Amino acid sequence: MAFNAYYYDSHIDCKFCKKHFTTYKVRPNRYKVMEEHSDFMPVYEGLNPILYEVAVCPHCGYAYHKSMTRTYGPFMQLIEELYIKELQKPMNYCGERTIDEAIISFKLAYLVCRASMEEALIMANFALKIAWLYRLKNDVESETRYLLAARDFFSKSFAVNQEASERIQYLYAELSLRLGDIPEAKKSFSRLITDQRVSAKYRKFSKNRWENYRYDEQPPSIEMNIEESPRL
Ligand SMILES: [Zn+2]
Repeated sequence: MAFNAYYYDSHIDCKFCKKHFTTYKVRPNRYKVMEEHSDFMPVYEGLNPILYEVAVCPHCGYAYHKSMTRTYGPFMQLIEELYIKELQKPMNYCGERTIDEAIISFKLAYLVCRASMEEALIMANFALKIAWLYRLKNDVESETRYLLAARDFFSKSFAVNQEASERIQYLYAELSLRLGDIPEAKKSFSRLITDQRVSAKYRKFSKNRWENYRYDEQPPSIEMNIEESPRL
């Protein structure tokens, strides 16, 4: 195969059917994080590696993401029963992907995780990434649907350490704000801001985010209007 300057072939042995396949991954020098949205969505210059995070086996349709943990023994039986048997026919997403194909690959991983009853945190992160992909397409309705699902999963998530726990709490507050659930966002942000056990990093994130929101949403006062009106 000719050398591809943008992607390299990742070699995978399918955890379900055990067959070998290769799937594209973006070469590290082909993307750069330029900024980050307030829900941690990275904005890339160049290609977007998120599109290639899920490997979909072209032989059996099993979808795999590195964060998944229930990928063995009895869980595979559940996956066979509830996912593999339900698939119409495996599709090939091993080459270059459109955003739509990336969304499908994440949705397949989501279904695999639902079948194996994966931890809520893994489902939450998938839902959030699907929402980000819809954001790239400016599909607000679908983005909102997945932000709502993500928030629901975050509310049921358990963290392995303090940092992860703060990330979950922050994202819960942030997604509440994005979804327009202001009372819940206010409650969650103020908890993060006032709790002294919360790290300086997340207290600062929360304070900035809430203050920016308050500032942007604040209707201009009458005095301001007078001050800003052109002088006669
Ligand atoms: Zn397979």
